[in-house]
Amino acid sequence: MAADPIRTQLDERLFRIQADLLEMAEMVIERLGTVTSALLEGDVAGADQIIAEDDDIDLISLRVEEECIDTLLREQPVASDLRFVVAAMHMNSDIERSGDLTSNIAKAVGRLQGSHVDDRVRVLIAEMASQAALITRRAIEAFEGRDQKLAKTIDELDDVLDDLHYEYIQTVIHDARRGGMDPQQSLQLALIGRFYERIGDHAENIGERVRYIVNGWLPEIDAAARAREQQAANGPEDDITRPVRSRGMAVIDSIAEERRIDAIRQDFVANVSHELKTPVGAISLLAETLATATDSDNRERLADLLQKESKRAEDIIDDLLELARLEDQTAVFSRISVDGLAANAVEAAASFANANHIAIVTEGIPSGLHIQGNERELVRALVNLIDNAVRYSPARSEVRVQVETLPEDVDLSVIDQGEGIPRAELERIFERFYRVDRARSRETGGTGLGLAITRHVATNHGGQILVESKTGTGSTFTLRIPRETE
Ligand code: ADP
Repeated sequence: MAADPIRTQLDERLFRIQADLLEMAEMVIERLGTVTSALLEGDVAGADQIIAEDDDIDLISLRVEEECIDTLLREQPVASDLRFVVAAMHMNSDIERSGDLTSNIAKAVGRLQGSHVDDRVRVLIAEMASQAALITRRAIEAFEGRDQKLAKTIDELDDVLDDLHYEYIQTVIHDARRGGMDPQQSLQLALIGRFYERIGDHAENIGERVRYIVNGWLPEIDAAARAREQQAANGPEDDITRPVRSRGMAVIDSIAEERRIDAIRQDFVANVSHELKTPVGAISLLAETLATATDSDNRERLADLLQKESKRAEDIIDDLLELARLEDQTAVFSRISVDGLAANAVEAAASFANANHIAIVTEGIPSGLHIQGNERELVRALVNLIDNAVRYSPARSEVRVQVETLPEDVDLSVIDQGEGIPRAELERIFERFYRVDRARSRETGGTGLGLAITRHVATNHGGQILVESKTGTGSTFTLRIPRETE
């Protein structure tokens, strides 16, 4: 069969992007070696030379960015190409930042001129540099070989760098306390450690993007699990005296607990930033391209895309605000009729269902049944369930909304004939930003926060949310709220 010329052109572009990324990463590794020698030898001229070559990486990085945008706009990439391009854009900025960090280290050489650096600190600098180079090398090997197992090993290598960095900072602080060094220079040294550590973090990001290219895995999927593991490793909540690290560093007292909470918070903030970065990044790229597009068809297409991405950012922000409101628990409760509640939710979800050619059928909704609650929140919770049922069902199927009265509770169920959810995922779908299939959720306008919101509403009402699902057959989500007691 003759080669498909369109596909070949696209493959060539992807190949060029990859080659550029690899070249940039090699340059970072080389600069790491040179800058560290200049630092250890106090070679200011050598360091200046490195700063002078600062633009080399940036130029390639610009080219990669252009190629990526071009590919998105001019070619017809399939899903796996798209993953590659999105990953390439992330990797590009990670490698570019690592390059900047090597320049930062070079700038510090001049500032440290004439100061005496302790031997232990020097050894640790050399160790951090070689570890950072090793991690970066591992990242590009994993990328080149699309080897996700190798990519995963980067995390462990980075832990070693983090430990080295920790020890380094302790040593620098210890030296500064002994008064051996000017405070400005101690600060400079502390910053240098941070620069090496961040190069490791960027390499870790590259590893994560490799896993994304290969199987669509994204770091946030594991973030929540990590937070849980960390919690388990730290022992019961009140046991804050247990050391959190091995390697001879026992962090005692409440710092451990604070850190744990910080880690969870950071995970969440990182997830939010990541989720918003994609649409916001796209908006700025699209706006820039729109400004120079002359052809009216192209302008229209770009404007459409702009609108879609803005809507996505808006939806995420809306859901985040809703979660914040729910955490506040300031909602006013009142007496609500269950049939009114169901009717309002169905009405609110109707246009989305229509657009997807799905019929919403209501069943057995008794009149005269009441619950105590906040109507706005409950409608939102129910709409989220109906929207999901629509989102993950084939066109022309049915979504049923059903009410059942139990002795103490009322069950509001949403039943679909959709794709269902694998058993192993059932526990996790209520986590913030967790999705079984990211691409599908995104395509259909999901934010990954809907079920987290619904669960929050349920607990705020003293109720719970239940799910039963079978892949290929459908899912039933039930919002169980206590009945009003007479
Ligand atoms: P999203 O905005 O991605 O839909 P949610 O928090 O509402 O986020 O849901 C989390 C994930 O749970 C979804 O991405 C999807 O994978 C899965 N899910 C939720 N509801 C259903 C359903 N009715 N059928 C199949 N999968 C579902």
